[in-house]
Formats: sequence, structure tokens, C-alpha cells
Amino acid sequence: MKPSRFRYFLARNVDEAVQLLGEQGEEARVLAGGQSLMPLMNMRLARPSALIDLNEINSLAYVHPWDGGLALGAMTRDADLERAALAAERMPLLVEASRHVGHPAIRNRSTIGGSIAHADPAAEIPAVILALDAELEVRSVSGSRIIAAKDFFQGPFQTSLAPGEILTEVRIPGLPSRSGSAFLEFARREGDYALAGVAAIVTLDEDGTITSARLGLCSVDQTPVRPTSAESLLKGRRPERYAWKEVAEAVSASLNEPPSDIHGSADYRRHLAGVMTERALALAAERAERNR
Ligand code: FAD
Repeated sequence: MKPSRFRYFLARNVDEAVQLLGEQGEEARVLAGGQSLMPLMNMRLARPSALIDLNEINSLAYVHPWDGGLALGAMTRDADLERAALAAERMPLLVEASRHVGHPAIRNRSTIGGSIAHADPAAEIPAVILALDAELEVRSVSGSRIIAAKDFFQGPFQTSLAPGEILTEVRIPGLPSRSGSAFLEFARREGDYALAGVAAIVTLDEDGTITSARLGLCSVDQTPVRPTSAESLLKGRRPERYAWKEVAEAVSASLNEPPSDIHGSADYRRHLAGVMTERALALAAERAERNR
């Protein structure tokens, strides 16, 4: 199939992109890597009146140091993130997760900003930026504002982006010392969307007890999930198997509406969420121990 008719604009900078998006109205969309938007348009599941193409705005593609962590331009390709030494050094969790996004050919085009703005509950990057307490800079003709990742995802493919706003930067604070992280997912085949994916960050005290744990889950509810009450069970605990088990059970119980489809029932995804949480926490703690 082919998309329905739309007007096309190639923006040369962010000012021009927000100007065009403002002029073209609420039915207009921005085009990033096109790896989700174009299939939706070809199947006529998305019928934007106009496309504002961001692919020539090189100033939106970067991986910079920020606050001990990273600042990423929204048009940073998944493949470039994977190759960025600064990302591997400061945010291995993001790099580990981005390797699960589709296939190399997809990752050469898909972008960090696109994955976040698309807000697919099964996508890895949104779950990771939730766990990392990221903040998002968005811009429109009336200026820019910052949205905390925890306030961004509103429902399946729904975000708190206002009409006319473009996501321009993802800011991720650095992890505390003695931290370890891990991203694990269960998918039917390499490159498929996960049936359950978990990002885990564990930070240890000097005596080896847990000072904090953070989690982000994908594909197990209507949005990416940040199970804060389950995380809090780990504070002050020893990093041991039955602690992971207790948190894993709390995570499974906390899920509101796991999806049910031909790939897996809601109960199966609830079970998987627990199993992957337990494994991701154990691996993150092992890595934190190595960083002590
Ligand atoms: P686009 O498709 O260009 O845009 C997606 C949506 O976000 C559109 O509505 C667009 O208007 C909006 N948007 C894009 N950028 C911005 C911005 N800066 N500001 C505001 N709005 C914006 N994804 C996964 O996470 N995991 C997978 O396993 C996975 N597997 C895939 C397998 C295949 C075969 C394919 C084709 C895709 C797969 N994807 C997967 C999706 C893809 O990898 C990206 O995550 C997704 O396409 C978003 O990135 P994009 O840059 O292509 O965005």
C-alpha cells in the first residue's frame, strides 16, 4: 500500500522545523528515521497532512557529556549511539538496550528521539530513559521546556508532547559510583519486539549493601513501567537471590494491564516480567560489585 496524500517539507534547522510544524497544524508530523512512521503511513494507519523532515538537521544528532552523564540529540541514530565511546563509558545500559532495537539496518535509520516520541510500550529506549531518570527538552514556536521522562509517557503511543512541539534533546544524569546496570529482554527471535524487557540499575554502599535500585520495563503494560514501590524494597538489603525474588514478585503484581496477543498472554507476560527483573537485577548487582 501507499500513504495517503501529504505535503512534504525538508527542514534545514530546528527553528525552521518548529515554524513549519506550527504553520502546518495538528495533523502534521515530524519525520525522523521513518522506521515506524513510514510503515504506519503505508498501511494508512497514520495519515499526516504534512511531514516535516528532520533528517538534514545535523545539529540534532550528537552524544555529548552532560552532568556526569549524557546529552543526546533527538536525531541520534541507534547505530551511532552503539558506536559512541562516551555512551559506552558513561551509559552502558543505553548502549546495551539499543542493540535490541530491531536489526542493524533499522538501527542505521531509527533515532533516539523517534523511539521516545513514538512511545511504543514495547520499545526498549523509553523503558531505559525512565529507569535513568532522564529529562527531555522539547521546543515549539513559543519556546522550549523540559519534561521529566516519568511525566512523558501517557498511554500506548501517547506522550505529553503538545501540538507543535519537537523533542530536541535527551538528558541523562550520570550514575552514582559503585553502580552497575543491565538490560535483558525475552523475544521470540533476535530483532523482534520484546515480550518483556527490563532495565536494572543497582547502586551499592561501601559495605556492599544496596543504597538504591532502579527499574524500567517494556512490553508489559500500556506504557513503559517504572515500579518505584518494588524498587524501594531493596534499599539497605544485601544483594542476594531472595531479595531479587521478592522484588520480581512485587513487579509482576504491580502491572496493571499486560498486553495479551498471539505472542503471549497477559499472565505469561506478567510471569516473564518477574523472571527478567530477577535476572537483570542480579546481573546489574554483579557489575556494581565489580565497580566497587
Ligand atoms: P519515526 O518513525 O520517524 O517517527 C516515529 C514517531 O515519532 C512519529 O509519529 C514521528 O512524528 C515522531 N517523532 C520522531 N522524532 C520526533 C521528534 N524529535 N520530536 C517529536 N516527534 C518525533 N523499535 C524498538 O524500540 N524495538 C524493536 O525491537 C524494534 N523493531 C523494529 C523492527 C522493524 C522491522 C522496524 C521497521 C522497526 C522496529 N522498531 C523497533 C521501531 C524503530 O526502531 C524505532 O524505534 C522507531 O521507528 C522510532 O524511530 P524513528 O526515528 O524511525 O521515528
